[in-house]
Amino acid sequence: MRRADSDGTEDRVSDGTGIGSDLGGTDGERAARRDQAVRAAVEGGLLGPDAPVVGLLDVTGIRESAAALRAAFEAVTAPGTPVLHAFAVKATPLVPVLRLLDEEGVGAEVASPGELALARAAGVPPERTVLDSPAKTPGELREALALGIALNADNPQELERIDALVKSSGGPSSPLGIRVNPQVGGGSIEALSTATATSKFGVALRDEGAREWVVRAYLDRPWLTRLHAHTGSQGIPLTLMAQGVRETYTLAEEINERAGRRQVDTLDIGGGLPVNFSSDATTPTYAEYARVLREAVPGLFDGRYGLVTEFGRSLLAKHGTVVARVEYAKSAGGRAVAVTHAGVQVATRTVYAPGAWPLRIAAYDGKGRPKEGPAVVQDVAGPACFAGDLLAVGRSLPLLEQGDYAAALDTGAYYFAHHYAYNSLARPGVYGFGPDGAGGLAFAVVREPQTVEEIVAESGGPHASDLTALRPAPRHEGAAGAGS
Ligand SMILES: *Cc1c(COP(=O)(O)O)cnc(C)c1O
Repeated sequence: MRRADSDGTEDRVSDGTGIGSDLGGTDGERAARRDQAVRAAVEGGLLGPDAPVVGLLDVTGIRESAAALRAAFEAVTAPGTPVLHAFAVKATPLVPVLRLLDEEGVGAEVASPGELALARAAGVPPERTVLDSPAKTPGELREALALGIALNADNPQELERIDALVKSSGGPSSPLGIRVNPQVGGGSIEALSTATATSKFGVALRDEGAREWVVRAYLDRPWLTRLHAHTGSQGIPLTLMAQGVRETYTLAEEINERAGRRQVDTLDIGGGLPVNFSSDATTPTYAEYARVLREAVPGLFDGRYGLVTEFGRSLLAKHGTVVARVEYAKSAGGRAVAVTHAGVQVATRTVYAPGAWPLRIAAYDGKGRPKEGPAVVQDVAGPACFAGDLLAVGRSLPLLEQGDYAAALDTGAYYFAHHYAYNSLARPGVYGFGPDGAGGLAFAVVREPQTVEEIVAESGGPHASDLTALRPAPRHEGAAGAGS
């Protein structure tokens, strides 16, 4: 029996008090695995004076989140409903992660030629890949159709390009849909709110004439069989996300009614489940969101529609940790400052928008053990040469000293995999940790640390003299105007 109470593994009660608390359940086990991994990384030399910053990924946790996602939707959908969970590759664009998720039954949502190439390199099959970029070039559209990858047109001009490609190939080879913006409103983070009145994504459904245009687009094109909206993100309440899905469902019903058949057979409800960055508790859970959806849009789950989801942050964030060595500990204006190797290059959003993206910091000693001691108000700084390069300001933690380690938690999505090359700081190595099969912990390379040679090469090294070669033509002796 698949019932709502057979929730995913994440749906456990926890006290939510944060680091060091007795969370119990999978959340507590994840926190314990993280401590174990930091210690093992220091002991094994992955982290140390010559490798002062790394990203760590918890393979067990990633598998658990994927299983929780599958279970949550299985619990609310009619038996036999086709459901494709496609991981939003932009959240953690690392090939081994995509392969791991694929093995866990989660495909890929891609939004650029690079992301598509990563998904293909990971072996994600075309039928489990969805292309959603707002700026697809003719070449990208052609490639996606040639591969049979599902895609959602963002706007009328893109649909015209698809029309031409479908016509020239004698019919569509991919499931095709249109992305709409239900304009249900934004959340607490403006830059991440996709469903505001003026959002750049999709066809703005409440604009004058837009709804009728969408319906006609379907009636004129029997091969349009999907409808897509992605309205959630960090800072968006579940009920607002569900409202966006409901508007999309209602539109699909209207299209099918007017078409006199079940033309739209699949609804792509996007991703955007928010993540709790303030403790180790996983909240909200996929199971909660699935229940909210079933309340708000019961018809979505009765088996008449196939479903596509595109979760990113919620699958990976809590399974990643960036750990950085404290190079120096100093004091300025009476404030303790730990100068570490993790700053704007690995935590760009937090450094530039600290109010929207606060991160928990955990302190470890030089042996990688959780640091004990009275809490001291301190700044945790990064290595970049601008004053605002701070991971945390005025944070109460056991005093970080030279040779200790500071870990920025919940950074598995949109952090260390999103390197920002300020000060030509090298991309850190990323390692996954999981069971070694003998009761211990093993590491696997996800991404090698970048070398300075690689930095030079990608910073124009091979073109060192190409600029100085651009000079005016030499003046010739005896030419007019010369030789006075
Ligand atoms: C970014 C994005 C997602 C994933 O969002 P998360 O907040 O990481 O879950 C899904 N679909 C689309 C179209 C996106 O742009």
